[in-house]
Amino acid sequence: MDNVDVVIAGAGVAGCLAARDLAKAGHSVALVERKAKEALGHDWWDAVRESIFEEVGMPRPEPPELMEHKDKTTVYPPLMTMSTVVPPTPGKIHIDRKHFAKRQIHYAVDAGVRLMDKTAVIGPVTDSNSVCGIAVRTSEGAQKEIRAKFTIDATGMSAAIRRKAPAGQGFPRVMKRGDMFVTYREIRNRTSDNDMGIVIFGIDNGVRWVDRSQTGLIDFFAGALNYPGRKSPRAAVREMMSKTDDVGDKLMRGGYGAPIPVRRCFDHFIGDGFLICGDSACQCNPIDGSGIASSLKAASLAARTIHAALENGRSDIEALWPYVAEYKRTQGADFAPFEVLQKCMISFPQADLEALFRRKIIKPESFWGSSGNKQKKESAIEKILKLLKLLDKPGMIPVLLQTAKLSKELGEHFREFPEQYDSAAFDSWKRKTDEIMASLPEKYYE
Ligand SMILES: Cc1cc2nc3c(=O)[nH]c(=O)nc-3n(C[C@H](O)[C@H](O)[C@H](O)COP(=O)(O)OP(=O)(O)OC[C@H]3O[C@@H](n4cnc5c(N)ncnc54)[C@H](O)[C@@H]3O)c2cc1C
Repeated sequence: MDNVDVVIAGAGVAGCLAARDLAKAGHSVALVERKAKEALGHDWWDAVRESIFEEVGMPRPEPPELMEHKDKTTVYPPLMTMSTVVPPTPGKIHIDRKHFAKRQIHYAVDAGVRLMDKTAVIGPVTDSNSVCGIAVRTSEGAQKEIRAKFTIDATGMSAAIRRKAPAGQGFPRVMKRGDMFVTYREIRNRTSDNDMGIVIFGIDNGVRWVDRSQTGLIDFFAGALNYPGRKSPRAAVREMMSKTDDVGDKLMRGGYGAPIPVRRCFDHFIGDGFLICGDSACQCNPIDGSGIASSLKAASLAARTIHAALENGRSDIEALWPYVAEYKRTQGADFAPFEVLQKCMISFPQADLEALFRRKIIKPESFWGSSGNKQKKESAIEKILKLLKLLDKPGMIPVLLQTAKLSKELGEHFREFPEQYDSAAFDSWKRKTDEIMASLPEKYYE
């Protein structure tokens, strides 16, 4: 049995950053990862908010981690009866996930973290209702326990510890199917010089793209909410490939799928001596699935909070609350309204969603491309002018008004998340969240 100050499950985006910061602050840290360290990171590139690197004290990516970012994408609504050319997202860059993972591991190990790769986390070690470490299985099949003052679940969607955490932690062990976005991505060699990419938004409750931003490569993606009867993302990618002229026959990268959580973050992310971070806490943007910057931000806040708690000899909920409060009041509040928007949009029949795009009531660039953080504010006149375009579809007007109201309300409510731990104040905050979410009818629009 080993003993450390902090044990972190999962050496992904959140786990590596929390490990680095805690080791730098002088604490003993074990970072446990089921894959070999050379295999870490998704085998593709992703868009990430550039300012996050400075925010969490990481040097800005350089090539080859920093990849090309071409300047045009054609965005279509689901039925593809129109299109809009959207400029690149201001402030976002493309990073190679393999190189990024390598850099993150390097920082963690350099800071003194004990990396245990090829070691699977089986679940938490508990003492009555507290988590006090993790049980692991090494690649040789040996099982052991690592005990720690603090345990972080940063295992992404597998949520290896959260799933088996003691009951009554205040967050679900298992997520609802519809809160998950299932994806498939395949990158082939490209046989043309055409560098125009396309995105189809809202198709079959999801998104598809053909991206040509990287020289010589063509990137196919399909993703959809995980509702029963949904189309397989892999089949959707194959269909897109069969209609694309410049796809080569070599699989260059990807060739697999992974799920993304697309609901607002959990009500809180802590237990006694226990924290969840990144995808395992549902800290992604519910409308575009981006979660790198938010996972880094959460990990940085979690590490700062644990450091203060260790300095003060505390491990209770009150001592860990600053992590939750700061995340919820900032990034959580920026992302939460997008869940309302997402739920409204998927409830529209595709033809009506198409009409919203065609009449410029929804602009693709307001959530695709320039998305990321906040929804843009609109004047009352702009709102009225938009609704006037829907006089022939009067059923949609109250739905859109309600969506606008509820998404604003949810964002403001998140900004009022209790700053200090107070169970009555938290219960009342949670009740109001439930009330707002309950006022989104299951079938939003007929
Ligand atoms: C197709 C796709 C496209 C995406 N595009 C973007 C994008 O453009 N921009 C963006 O910001 N985000 C994007 N994301 C989301 C982003 O990848 C995640 O939000 C981010 O990686 C979450 O970080 P994390 O640390 O929570 O989890 P991860 O980075 O997934 O790390 C979890 C780690 O835990 C390990 N692990 C899991 N189970 C165990 C276990 N039992 N024992 C030990 N280790 C375990 C895993 O091997 C992994 O290394 C995309 C995701 C997908 C699937």
